[in-house]
Amino acid sequence: MSAVAYQHFVHAKTNDKVEKQAPLVSVIIPFLNERDVLEQCHQRVCNALSALHQLCEIVYVDDGSQDASWQLVSQFQHPTHSIRSLRLSRNFGKEAALSAGLKSALGQCVILLDADLQDPPECIPDMVKAWQQGAQVVEMQRRERHGENWLKRTTAHCFYRFMSYISDSPITENVGDFRLMDKKVVEVINTLPERTRFMKGLLAWPGFTRQVMTFDRDPRLAGKTKWNYPKLIHLALEGITSFSTKPLRWATLAGLTTSFFTFVMAMVVLTKTLVWGEPVVGYPSTVLIILFLGGIQLLSIGVLGEYVGRLFIESKQRPLYVLMEETTSEPTFAQSET
Ligand code: UDP
Ligand code: MG
Repeated sequence: MSAVAYQHFVHAKTNDKVEKQAPLVSVIIPFLNERDVLEQCHQRVCNALSALHQLCEIVYVDDGSQDASWQLVSQFQHPTHSIRSLRLSRNFGKEAALSAGLKSALGQCVILLDADLQDPPECIPDMVKAWQQGAQVVEMQRRERHGENWLKRTTAHCFYRFMSYISDSPITENVGDFRLMDKKVVEVINTLPERTRFMKGLLAWPGFTRQVMTFDRDPRLAGKTKWNYPKLIHLALEGITSFSTKPLRWATLAGLTTSFFTFVMAMVVLTKTLVWGEPVVGYPSTVLIILFLGGIQLLSIGVLGEYVGRLFIESKQRPLYVLMEETTSEPTFAQSET
């Protein structure tokens, strides 16, 4: 180990007190049952961080894994980087795990990374370079979505378009959670109090200077995706209702439009009957209109219900996650020095 390469991170000794320097980068890795990939993930992230020649930290967040993942990460060590592992008391979802990581990150900038190595850690030095050149947020945009079928790509595309349309803070297309954020941005995100954590929206909300970099998203290294269509639909609905009230406006507009057409139709029927004496006919059209209006009403009540449900969840003010255990491994090189 070259002492020269790590002179930055060495603890400054003043009056026999050890003052720790804030890590340059914190990499937050949330995981759920990823035993098969964690070792390789750790290796590749450490290699990428070592290219920076500065003290960095890796924050693993165990989101309630049932396999041996926790035993694995809590043993991780590195000569020059500090490794922290947070264990949540159960599966709270990736969003909560990311929030736990963001709260505890100490770095001057923070990178969010998936454990399954779909987000290549080799991009980290370039991201850090972009940050050092002034970008406060470096968004990583997927050029190709390897290992994802046509349906997932199309639905994802439509979702991004729709979200960008309804949300006030623009969400860059094909940018997931993989990104770098300056400490300032992280501090703002940590103050956002909502329980329903639609991360893409929350991460975009603070703004700041942004830079978009492209990368090729690899297929999953091993194991299975934790997402399925019902979960994705839930996430989409959560995203829409926690970031915009436009659907409520649409419900009102649908009501106004149908009322207008109903009025026009009533006038036509009334005139026909009173002026020309035509008998009132049209059983099928009556049924159709009743069904149509019933549909619109149910839809509007459903939309309203989604927002009321959101209010209910927010009003309970429960914590986002419960931390069960935390381990820290200081750089082993520094330990032997002090
Ligand atoms: N993950 C998590 N909690 C969950 C679901 C997923 O921490 O409830 C982690 C998972 O272990 C992985 C990352 O979030 O590190 C991305 O999940 P996944 O690969 O299943 O999603 P995809 O890449 O298919 O969108
Ligand atoms: Mg994945």
